[in-house]
Amino acid sequence: MNEKYLVVNCGSSSLKFSLYEMPLEKLIAKGYIEKIGLDDSFWTISYNDEKITGAKRLANHSEAVKVMTEELINNGIVKRMEEIKGIGHRVLHGGEIYNDSVIIDDKVLNDIVKMTNLGPLHHPGEIDGIKAMMECLPKAKQVAVFDTAFHQTMPKDSYIYAVPYEWYTKYKVRKYGFHGTSHKYITNKMQELFHKDDVNLIICHVGSGASITCIKEGKSFDTSMGLTPLDGLVMGTRSGRIDPSIIKFMADEAGMTLDEITNELNKNSGLKGICGKNDFRDMMNLIKEGNEQAKLAYEIFMDSIIKHIAEYYFELEGKVDAIVFTAGILENNTSIRETLINKLSGAMGIYVNQLANDNIGYGHDLKEGIITAEESKIPVYVIPTDEEVMIVRDCYKLVKEA
Ligand code: ADP
Repeated sequence: MNEKYLVVNCGSSSLKFSLYEMPLEKLIAKGYIEKIGLDDSFWTISYNDEKITGAKRLANHSEAVKVMTEELINNGIVKRMEEIKGIGHRVLHGGEIYNDSVIIDDKVLNDIVKMTNLGPLHHPGEIDGIKAMMECLPKAKQVAVFDTAFHQTMPKDSYIYAVPYEWYTKYKVRKYGFHGTSHKYITNKMQELFHKDDVNLIICHVGSGASITCIKEGKSFDTSMGLTPLDGLVMGTRSGRIDPSIIKFMADEAGMTLDEITNELNKNSGLKGICGKNDFRDMMNLIKEGNEQAKLAYEIFMDSIIKHIAEYYFELEGKVDAIVFTAGILENNTSIRETLINKLSGAMGIYVNQLANDNIGYGHDLKEGIITAEESKIPVYVIPTDEEVMIVRDCYKLVKEA
């Protein structure tokens, strides 16, 4: 019998959900509830090519979940809420405790609460979402799918920082890595394509958040994000890798507090910090107008991707089955893909296949495929990621086993 499952992604003031029919993995409806906690909260639900919209003050996540359930029932998307058997929550940080998805019980919820120190920007909203769903849909089982879990296979020499070791043993300061659900989805897809488990890959997930993962023998071996998602690549609003001394320097020179500096590094840095625009398309439009800051942001952004690919190419001793481009920017923007391949060409012997590259992505029927010429030493694939389907698969599997 087909059953319904929800995938939920909660922020501090937002709740995104997707409703699936399982085991068909059929997406039935998708919704966004925004500005929770403010006077002008509003929501949009897509169902059967229609848009259902509404607006009223939603004081908290509980009220948002109530609106979601009312809309699902009133629009005939579900007949009774009991049809929903499971709810998969995207949870940022599983620390060293969780290397896989898990049914949420009191202990798990308590662990997620305790790990708020590792995910201060994300966990409060996610916890509110889990509690609200428990309250409104008490019969459905809740599952946590952690962004860090897939990277728990990294060896110690990848995840330990060269800082006093006690920072790790006492405070758990280490590299955790993120976007794990996406990197796992791509790894599984490539394992199917190559008909083998022990694939070596360099996966470039480049959207407004961005991370690159080195997959060795089918497992996460190293990744660019660290203790938090701030490290690694230059992103839409995040600085990525910087000299840590900058923090004290700015505290001394500009009289900023640690919280203010952390906020600037997370929300006002990256592309936005350099050219004022965090959205890649907006930055490209500025470049077309001849804006020098936008050109500079583009060059720095590209360099940061190249440097990480280079690192992982050497970590894999050049034995790379494929490089994979995924997420918003690399799935859709043909010119950045071409430039990246041209920049890697001399060192790695890879060459763009113009026709293939021009015909995959935004506005095209073809969404995935190889974009390098046959004579390339390593193929470069474009594969759209699907974190939600991974979450619903894990949720379904755990609910069935429970
Ligand atoms: P996240 O999930 O981290 O919010 P996404 O993977 O959705 O990010 O990617 C968002 C980014 O992708 C934005 O910078 C946006 O400009 C870029 N993007 C989306 N579509 C296109 C496109 N057609 N061409 C270029 N960039 C695009």
